[in-house]
Amino acid sequence: MNHSLFAALRGNFPHDLDGVAIECADGLPGRYTWRDLERATAMLANLLASLKLPAGSRVAVQTEKSVEALMLYLAVLRAGYVYLPLNTAYQAAEIEYFIGNAEPAVVVCSGKNFGWVSQIAFKAGTTHVFTLNEDRSGSLLERAAHQSDQHTPAHCQRDDLACILYTSGTTGRSKGAMLTHGNILSNAQTLKDYWGWKAGDVLIHALPLFHVHGLFVAAQGALLNGSKMIWLSKFDAKTVVANLPRATVFMGVPTLYVRMLAEPGLTREACKNMRLFLAGSAPLLIETFNEWRERTGHTIVERYGMSETVILTSNPYRAEDGERRGGTVGFPLPGVGLRVQDDNGQPCPAGEVGNIQVSGPNVFAGYWRMPDKTKEEFTADGWFKTGDVGRVDADGYVTIVGRSKDLIISGGYNVYPAEIEGFINEMPGVAESAVIGVPHPDFGEAGVAVVVAKPGATLDDAAIVQSLKSRIANFKVPKRVYVVSELPRNAMGKVLKNQLRDQHIGLFSQG
Ligand code: AMP
Repeated sequence: MNHSLFAALRGNFPHDLDGVAIECADGLPGRYTWRDLERATAMLANLLASLKLPAGSRVAVQTEKSVEALMLYLAVLRAGYVYLPLNTAYQAAEIEYFIGNAEPAVVVCSGKNFGWVSQIAFKAGTTHVFTLNEDRSGSLLERAAHQSDQHTPAHCQRDDLACILYTSGTTGRSKGAMLTHGNILSNAQTLKDYWGWKAGDVLIHALPLFHVHGLFVAAQGALLNGSKMIWLSKFDAKTVVANLPRATVFMGVPTLYVRMLAEPGLTREACKNMRLFLAGSAPLLIETFNEWRERTGHTIVERYGMSETVILTSNPYRAEDGERRGGTVGFPLPGVGLRVQDDNGQPCPAGEVGNIQVSGPNVFAGYWRMPDKTKEEFTADGWFKTGDVGRVDADGYVTIVGRSKDLIISGGYNVYPAEIEGFINEMPGVAESAVIGVPHPDFGEAGVAVVVAKPGATLDDAAIVQSLKSRIANFKVPKRVYVVSELPRNAMGKVLKNQLRDQHIGLFSQG
């Protein structure tokens, strides 16, 4: 049997290949039929095959989001090679690290970056560098145009490598998470069932393609269900809201929801055909969750996942499975094992915070060329240490409290930033906050809060400290509070806490 992820997706294309698969809602106008996807991925796969690359070759891609870039992903799978997406924000030093580490046989980049990217790639032993631009120009498509549009998908085993995803590195150097055809496909099939994908669904795709969320969860979710996508090359709140009446499913990181809430066009009427709003990649504020429900009548389904495992938990879609509980990430998905342990490897009782560990067919095959790091991140009995800290309540709901590396140990006490952030965010006039730990001569580490005010509100740092003191233990109260205009975030909406830490690292140092 062929376990190829591409073959599984292709097998779910609708019978009528002339129906619309993707409709562009911004940028270049265009509609792509299922037949276009079938033919273009065949031509691109034939181009890759013509290069006679060794088995297991990596194809690294750093291009702007486009339908053709999605086709390239599918073609790499179709040809049986390993896809390696790279964040478009990465600059030369970062690209040099990824290309040096992954040693891709093929690199595809934007024409405007060809000079420096090709220099890095050829130095690292890459044999082919192609270009692909947002306007559909570039050498990749020119070369593929001469290829046949017939191609038999490569035969793959479940354990064959499909993708390498470099982790976002918000807490350290990026590592290449190796995901197999079996990892990605098993998760996609579970989500298809759990989220009730059905005939007639239409997805608004407004996420980047270089990350799990936009690629595996959103684009692939639609493809596996043979569902049409309304395609935005860049997120724009107005465009998404304008397209809601024609759609049934939307997926976004929390910041996208916040921006859409600022649109007057976001009404119950606009959402009347919507079936499902999903959020993840970063914590969804309870305020956003509540405000969204009031405005649209829809309750966002928050879920939790990571590059190494794709999706792990989700709030229920079907009412009979339970309520969608704000501030939680729901239940482990069917087939996913999730447990919470203390630092000594003992199970934590329900409701107690500890280290989240997971197992299941979705858990990755290890970090690319880092056997020691891989070993470190798995327990002796084979569970993956997510690096997330959280708890499972008595009724099974999982709550993420933060990253273990973000944990602050102040005067010997554990301080969980998310708990403190929760208290600060509830204060009047506060839009959001981030709490970080920095070195302190007496306490080892001390908490520092960085707070953003709501538009038009003014905040007083001393008043925030005072208010916290009246509500939580003194050791948890940040030693300093800074009011800023915005928090630094990466493209997936994650707050860059290491950047904040670097900014404040010398705050309490002597001399
Ligand atoms: P990445 O590998 O870039 O997708 O990052 C994965 C990390 O994002 C996880 O380990 C969590 O720390 C965080 N994350 C993802 N989804 C959520 C969520 N719903 N709530 C809180 N944190 C999340």
